[in-house]
Amino acid sequence: MQDTKAMAEQVLAGNRRALARAITLVESGRDDHRVQALALLEALRGHNRTALRIGLSGTPGVGKSTFIEAFGMMLTGQGLRVAVLAVDPSSARSGGSILGDKTRMERLSRDKNAFIRPSPSQTQLGGVARRTREAIDLCEAAGFDVILIETVGVGQSETMVSEMSDLFLLLLAPAGGDELQGVKRGIMEMADILLVNKADGDLKHTAMRTCADYAGALRLLRKRPQDPQEFPKALTVSAVEQNGLDTAWEAMTELNSWRQENGHFSARRAAQARHWFEAEVRERLLARLAKEPIRGIMTDLGSQVENGRLTPSAAAQALLKEHLYLE
Ligand code: GDP
Repeated sequence: MQDTKAMAEQVLAGNRRALARAITLVESGRDDHRVQALALLEALRGHNRTALRIGLSGTPGVGKSTFIEAFGMMLTGQGLRVAVLAVDPSSARSGGSILGDKTRMERLSRDKNAFIRPSPSQTQLGGVARRTREAIDLCEAAGFDVILIETVGVGQSETMVSEMSDLFLLLLAPAGGDELQGVKRGIMEMADILLVNKADGDLKHTAMRTCADYAGALRLLRKRPQDPQEFPKALTVSAVEQNGLDTAWEAMTELNSWRQENGHFSARRAAQARHWFEAEVRERLLARLAKEPIRGIMTDLGSQVENGRLTPSAAAQALLKEHLYLE
């Protein structure tokens, strides 16, 4: 049994090893660990620190780790403390991962003002969401100024990450007009800033054209009345040559300041908190159904429905009322 009060104090003091242990605790599936994790998060509540949470998505190979390393180093160079969390939906499915297998962000990982945490493997997407949310809370409590939450552009992970971020960035590669169509509209709509990476060398011209194409596409999307006119916007960057990173950061801070001043920042966080509360209730109810003894009872009731001894409605009613105490 870990002393969660002491752990909370160490996290608040910015102790990185304590932070790493705390994240391991919230990642654990063990029931006794869950009890401790909740006590820890409760002990950390009300610390009054606010990090800028930036979600970042992009397909494999687009340059996410190169970008995060360069961008992260730029921020730590300005005296900011940066945490990087990875959300890897592939590890939930297959146990293998797209993010985190290779040595990534080597320089940033040695920076004492940076903290990098790879995605845990072998968890359900719902579990990944909870773990990431709680890890974000822990990093915020530990006093990080910026938390980058990185994910791969597949499936539902973008939606999930955007729902735990203050700003959402989409990293794109220079491409012909056809590939622009390949970015799903829903993902474009989530993004506050599109960054066309690799705007250097032979690719520079294509990157600029791609950026203009995306800027045009953004103008056609539904406007967000709460944001300034020029957002969402598209910009070019080169992670390798470290070009455009300062402009990208300016755009992020501009949008964030606007939202802070106009109350949209806190409104978004409040809505996100409600969303995750409801998601967790749903998730845990479903988890109860999959666990004994409810699973066995459902199998029994299912057999009775199959051979006509109970109607589906009566069986459902019996389960909810007598076994889950819900009706
Ligand atoms: P990830 O899979 O999205 O994390 O992508 P990586 O950061 O591993 O980058 C994939 C490849 O693109 C690597 O070979 C990088 O060197 C290259 N790359 C990343 N950023 C840039 C850039 O700004 N310009 C160019 N030319 N190549 C880049």
